[in-house]
Amino acid sequence: MDSPIEYVKGIGPSRAVVLKKELEIRTVGDMLAHYPFRYIDRSKFHLIRDINSDDTYIQLKAKLVDVREIPMGKRSRLEATIKDESGRLKLTWFQKIKYVRSNLIIGRDYLIFGKPNKYKGTYSLVHPDMQIMEPNKEPIKGGLQPVYPSGEKLSAKGFTSKGIEKVIKSILLEASKYIQEYLPQYILDKHKLMGRNEAVIQIHQPSDLDRLSQAKFRLKFDEFFILQLTLLKLKIAKMEKNKGMPFNQVGKMFNDFYKNHLPFKLTGAQKRVVREIRHDLGYGHQMNRLLQGDVGSGKTVVALLSMLLALDNGYQACLMAPTEILAHQHFEGITEIIDGMPIVTDILTGSTPAKKRKLMFEKLANGDIHILIGTHALLEDKVKFNNLGLSIIDEQHRFGVAQRARMWKKNVIPPHILVMTATPIPRTLAMTLYGDLEISVIDELPPGRKAIQTIHRYDSSRLRVFQFMKDEINKGRQVYVVYPLIEESETLDYKDLMDGYESIIRSFPKPKYQVSILHGRMKSEDKEFEMQRFVKGETQILVSTTVIEVGVNVPNASLMIIESTERFGLSQLHQLRGRVGRGADQSYCILMSSVKLSEHARTRIETMCRTNDGFEIADADLKLRGPGDIMGTRQSGILEFKIANLSTDSQILYLAREMAQEVMKEDPSLSEDRHLPISKAIARDMNKKNHWSKIS
Ligand code: ADP
Ligand code: MG
Repeated sequence: MDSPIEYVKGIGPSRAVVLKKELEIRTVGDMLAHYPFRYIDRSKFHLIRDINSDDTYIQLKAKLVDVREIPMGKRSRLEATIKDESGRLKLTWFQKIKYVRSNLIIGRDYLIFGKPNKYKGTYSLVHPDMQIMEPNKEPIKGGLQPVYPSGEKLSAKGFTSKGIEKVIKSILLEASKYIQEYLPQYILDKHKLMGRNEAVIQIHQPSDLDRLSQAKFRLKFDEFFILQLTLLKLKIAKMEKNKGMPFNQVGKMFNDFYKNHLPFKLTGAQKRVVREIRHDLGYGHQMNRLLQGDVGSGKTVVALLSMLLALDNGYQACLMAPTEILAHQHFEGITEIIDGMPIVTDILTGSTPAKKRKLMFEKLANGDIHILIGTHALLEDKVKFNNLGLSIIDEQHRFGVAQRARMWKKNVIPPHILVMTATPIPRTLAMTLYGDLEISVIDELPPGRKAIQTIHRYDSSRLRVFQFMKDEINKGRQVYVVYPLIEESETLDYKDLMDGYESIIRSFPKPKYQVSILHGRMKSEDKEFEMQRFVKGETQILVSTTVIEVGVNVPNASLMIIESTERFGLSQLHQLRGRVGRGADQSYCILMSSVKLSEHARTRIETMCRTNDGFEIADADLKLRGPGDIMGTRQSGILEFKIANLSTDSQILYLAREMAQEVMKEDPSLSEDRHLPISKAIARDMNKKNHWSKIS
């Protein structure tokens, strides 16, 4: 399996280079792990009349009766018509027209494969696969024919799907006996898994649909299982290496706050999470915990209680937020709620003046500041703590892994780390990406919240929407109007925002109405000023870009209008919507869009209108975009699976995780004879991917 691919008969050095470059295939084993992405069922022939669905590939026998090129602007398309005893069907090509045309002969019979495509009520085949049939010779019915991912450069070297099929066939013929099982019998038995050897053969040359599906199951299980074992091993190693500071006192600060300052009763979920954190902190290992909780679920107070535990044990704590606005809001909220307690808090951001900084750094270094809140300015080398025991990172997805890692260096013994996120991550994704972290979830909102009503309106209904805004404002409520300004430098977006602002000022005249505006091009003190006017209720409308996305808390705001909704992603829409529905009033979110919507955009809008549940939205997002796009490319290495799919194979993942836990419990070093082959498989995999170091 480790032999270089170039030694396989018929490949040779120059073709091997292409395989390596295009598919990262270096060895025979790599080649066998290049799986088909679909199969053509060649076991039957269809009649044109019987085509009634566009979700499977079909095979037809028909005569070519017409071919013509049809101009479309600068380019053209090729249309052909075929005919069998039951009817006629159109075939269409948009690419390689010349080449296709030169190979089509009117009057001949063809064997045609393709996927029906329904357009305006009639079916056609786009870019079908055509083979001339020899006269008077019945084509042989085949089985399930694999289709492999290929590409232009690969095809040029003969690695079309057919070419790859041929190579793999010859490898299997010679080398299938070297495909070895590495799972012990007890695991195979427990989950009724197909043997590895058979699975690899079946995935490439399925004998029937049933065995194909068993083969897929086995290979998906393998991918998840190896990854989960690796993550668990890493977690154990980390725990052993990073001795943490034990916080075994639950002392005066925590208790005093809990009894005398906490302005509400904690929800059951908050209590549970605080218990989990307390347990972690008292253990003597460094805590590495991810706290997930939907917007408004009350993560801040959990953060505060954790910080008080640090103080009770004689340590400092810090809380880092992704924006200045949010850092200020945390600072003000926390100072207010602990008023009267002997705790010194301070705030550090990019705009903290040099003079104040100097004093602050001194106080930090000798321990006179207990809780420091701030932006990524906290990460600067100059910021030195006396004894930092706990770092909390809010909205962690806004920070890179490298930034999180810098937190570790803020103390001789790395501080305990709690990262919080309001962007729910589907469970499968969290288990993969953060499989080496502990995860806590707040899955309950504080009582008394009314579900936000979300409505979709086209731009043509703007006047009615304005009237609704007026109605809400007349009831004393406030309104957000959000524009997409994805890149703060986009001049066109900026113009949209300004045009929108002006039209709102015209429709909502002074002095009856006051409007604030907030965007990333404003100076930080102007932003703060405008935001404060809205927070204090001096303005009724805040026209803004997504800078208000995270964390901002104005309970009196009960209506959010989102402009050009089609340009936002699902998780961003969910984050934005979380700015309303924070008070006791019924809240609304109106999603404005143009009439022309892509299918994806429509699904996103429908999802938002259907549910307020962040986890459901995250699942929908995973389905629409795939894991790599959700997490950003930097972290996606670990999310690249050859056959498994985090969105559709969750059950297999849970099974693999469970099995991995079981194995690690029995044999944490994987050194028993029966587990040695697994150990080797992990080592091979780590060697290949080398992505574990990217996680912190
Ligand atoms: P998020 O999880 O989005 O950061 P916050 O911590 O900002 O949420 O909390 C949202 C609001 O809910 C705040 O005004 C907070 O004071 C309030 N809150 C938090 N926990 C509770 C609770 N158990 N009961 C009532 N209100 C709560
Ligand atoms: Mg928050």
